[in-house]
Amino acid sequence: MTTFTDQKVIVTGASRGIGRAISLAFLKAGARVIGVYGGNSVAAAQFMDECGQFGDRLQLHQCDVSDSLQVEKLFRQVEEQFDTIDVLINNAGIRRDSLLALMDNAGWQQVIDVNLTGTFLMSKQAVLLMMKQKFGRIINITSPVAHLGFAGQANYAASKAGQIGMSRSLAKETARKKITVNCVSPGFIATELLDDLSAEQLAAYKNMVPMRRFGTAKEVADAVLFLAGPRASYITGIVLEVNGGL
Ligand code: NAP
Repeated sequence: MTTFTDQKVIVTGASRGIGRAISLAFLKAGARVIGVYGGNSVAAAQFMDECGQFGDRLQLHQCDVSDSLQVEKLFRQVEEQFDTIDVLINNAGIRRDSLLALMDNAGWQQVIDVNLTGTFLMSKQAVLLMMKQKFGRIINITSPVAHLGFAGQANYAASKAGQIGMSRSLAKETARKKITVNCVSPGFIATELLDDLSAEQLAAYKNMVPMRRFGTAKEVADAVLFLAGPRASYITGIVLEVNGGL
C-alpha cells in the first residue's frame, strides 16, 4: 500500500460521505489530514470521535469554501503550522436540483459558489503553498453529469463541468512545478447527498448503472489515493471515472 507518511493533505467536505472516506484512507496511509466542513458541527464531532486512533493526525476546520476570506484565513493557519501542503482534495459539494426554467437565482448561485468557486479559491491558495516545495497533487471531485447532463441539474452540471475545465487549465500551468491536477468522477455513490431521492428514483438510477449497484465512498477514495500517490506521477489533467460503467 502507498504510504503518505509526513504528507499534509487538505480534504474539503471531510466530515461526511465521500470526503470522510477519503480522509480516513489518507489517515490509514499515514498522512496528516486537515479536514474542512461547512456547517454541520455534529457530523464533524462524530467523525473526530470515530477517528480516535488517528486523532493526533486529524484536525477539522469549519470553513465555507465559497468564502474567500474564510479560505484565506484557513490557509494562513495551515502555512503557520505546516509551512506547505502536499495534497488538496476539493470534494465539498452541494446539489439544489430544479428544472432550469423554474430555478431561482439563489439555487443557481449557491451551487456554483460552493462547487466551482470553492474549488478555485482552495486551489489558488494551495498552489501558492505547493510552489514553495515544487510538488503537489490537486484532485477535484467532479461528476459524470458534467458531460452527460441531467434534467434538474443544470446548476450542478455546470459547476462540475467548470471544475474539469479549470483542472485541465491549471494542470498545464503547474506541470513544470511537479504539481499535478486531476479529477475523479464518481457515479452514483451511496451517501447523504442522495438522501432526498425517492425509492423509485434510487431504483431507476441503480438500473442505469451497468454494474447494477451504487458505488461506495471507499471505492472513490481508492481512486483518489492512487492519483495522489507516486505511481500517478506522470498523470495530470485527466478525469478518472469511478462509476460502474455508466
Ligand atoms: P455529502 O455526503 O452531502 O457531504 C458533503 C460534504 O461537503 C460535507 O462534509 C459538507 O459539510 C461539505 N460542504 C458542503 N458545503 C460546504 C461548504 N460551503 N464549505 C465547506 N464544506 C462544505 O456529499 P458526498 O455525496 O460525499 O459528495 C462529495 C462530493 O462528491 C461532492 O462534490 C459531490 O458533488 C460529488 N459527487 C457525489 C456523488 C454521489 O453520488 N454521492 C456522485 C458524483 C459526485 P457539512 O456537513 O458541514 O455541511
